[in-house]
Amino acid sequence: MGYRSELETRVAKETTRAITDHLLIEDGDRVMVGLSGGKDSWALLQILDELRARAPIDFSLVAVNVDSGYKGYKHDVIAAACAARGWECVIEHTTIGEVIDDKLDATATPCSLCARLRRGVLYRMADAVGATKIALGHHADDFAETLLLNLFFAGALKAMPARLVSDDGRHVVVRPLAYVAESDVAAYTAERGLPVVGCCCPVCGDLGLQRQRMKKLLFDLEREHPGLKRSVLKALGNVQPRHLLDRRLNPPAALRARVAAAAAPADAVAGC
Ligand code: SF4
Repeated sequence: MGYRSELETRVAKETTRAITDHLLIEDGDRVMVGLSGGKDSWALLQILDELRARAPIDFSLVAVNVDSGYKGYKHDVIAAACAARGWECVIEHTTIGEVIDDKLDATATPCSLCARLRRGVLYRMADAVGATKIALGHHADDFAETLLLNLFFAGALKAMPARLVSDDGRHVVVRPLAYVAESDVAAYTAERGLPVVGCCCPVCGDLGLQRQRMKKLLFDLEREHPGLKRSVLKALGNVQPRHLLDRRLNPPAALRARVAAAAAPADAVAGC
């Protein structure tokens, strides 16, 4: 059974590569897709459904939508779109929006608190629906932006894991779109006629946010140097630890041992 378009073929190929490279989905998995109604999560759910029908392994899907409680959020549109396609979907209504309003002053960026609260709900829902994996719609551009954010603002050389086991070891979060470009994700969601629903969060799309700044930086650089974003993604799979300054990767004791070992034969010859 072939795919419907060149775009779908490419998205399927890159998603399959991420799944096999990082062991994201295994035989017997029940995969819970975090479905916000944005383009990324729709593309993820759609391509996993296509792969499920063709994969040599057996896995099932369930979409979970976390409604933050913002006024005007069209969770009913999400539920109807899933029902029309025969996709199992659970809508979880929460008061995350209110909690954020209570805890943060008007100038603070709510995204990290929001992400933590949503992650907590997703973990709880994974137990409720019997999921063995939680799949999130982060794509290649998210990985590149996160790398730059950590590099410029957190003093750390890291992006995000394609496969993450929660601290208590009870949940596995996977990101099957890790190799798929955001432009393909958006085009694929549009091609499949999936209804993109805004989160209705007051700061959503605020260009003042650091992540948006990284997005723009990468966009501008890609325009000047086509292929640059692919190179950033490639770099994440091509780490050369000895060319970094992290002493945990190059412990001084191990360095001393290497230097001593390299010097040993010369001493032996001199002693003859
Ligand atoms: S933009 Fe809004 S919904 Fe998105 S992470 Fe930030 S606070 Fe949460």
